[in-house]
Amino acid sequence: MQLTLFHLFITDLDDLIAQSMQAVYDDLGGRAWKCEVCKKINKDKTNIRKHVETHFQGFDHHCTICGKQSKSREALRKHMSNYHK
Ligand SMILES: [Zn+2]
Ligand SMILES: [Zn+2]
Repeated sequence: MQLTLFHLFITDLDDLIAQSMQAVYDDLGGRAWKCEVCKKINKDKTNIRKHVETHFQGFDHHCTICGKQSKSREALRKHMSNYHK
């Protein structure tokens, strides 16, 4: 059950991130991505997703095994691979 809740939560955050980034074109007409929160531009979609996520500090990323809180899913992923292999 806890796992299901965890996945639901992740989906919500993904929606929030998707709504906070926008496809734009840079000065050279290349494809880029803009953070709607601080207007930062990044060409790499993966990077901008990680960047946008840092704006949503209110979200808790709990380890479902030991309960440790992480600032981001990236940090939680590292915690998982370091402590719960
Ligand atoms: Zn930003
Ligand atoms: Zn843990």
